[in-house]
Amino acid sequence: MAEQLSGLRCGIGYDTHRLAEGRKLVLGGVEIASARGPVSHSDGDVLSHAIADALLGAAGLGDLGRRFPDTDPQWKGVSSLVFLETIRKLLVAQKLRIQNIDSVIVLDEPKLAPYMDRIVDGIARALGVDGSQVSVKAKTSEGATPLLAAAHAIALLTPT
Ligand code: MG
Repeated sequence: MAEQLSGLRCGIGYDTHRLAEGRKLVLGGVEIASARGPVSHSDGDVLSHAIADALLGAAGLGDLGRRFPDTDPQWKGVSSLVFLETIRKLLVAQKLRIQNIDSVIVLDEPKLAPYMDRIVDGIARALGVDGSQVSVKAKTSEGATPLLAAAHAIALLTPT
């Protein structure tokens, strides 16, 4: 398998969760002060989930649901940063290195600017890369989907 993995490899990831009152909102492992949070079995961290799928896709390693099924007690209640830490090890085993990740969070409220440095730092640490290799942007839906949190991510990998 590894010998087939030559050259640049890019992957795309997407995740969304419905928001409800009284749920905890976590993005990139950072708890965000918010009246609403995702309805989810996991921590509902759409950003970590989108980035995880982008990395798994780029590496040809399937997807988040197959790697970390929510029916497996091993993954019940764990921080989604643990998924990223685990994927980091899978990439090392595949002799792949992360070049960069770009991502967009779509969320109407609250504003994420005050949290952005911590979000980037947390993801970079979980993946063992420099913060300069992780880009996270935030957009709103302009009121179109106020009860959804979503994230899109793209990752570029190269052989080590
Ligand atoms: Mg998810």
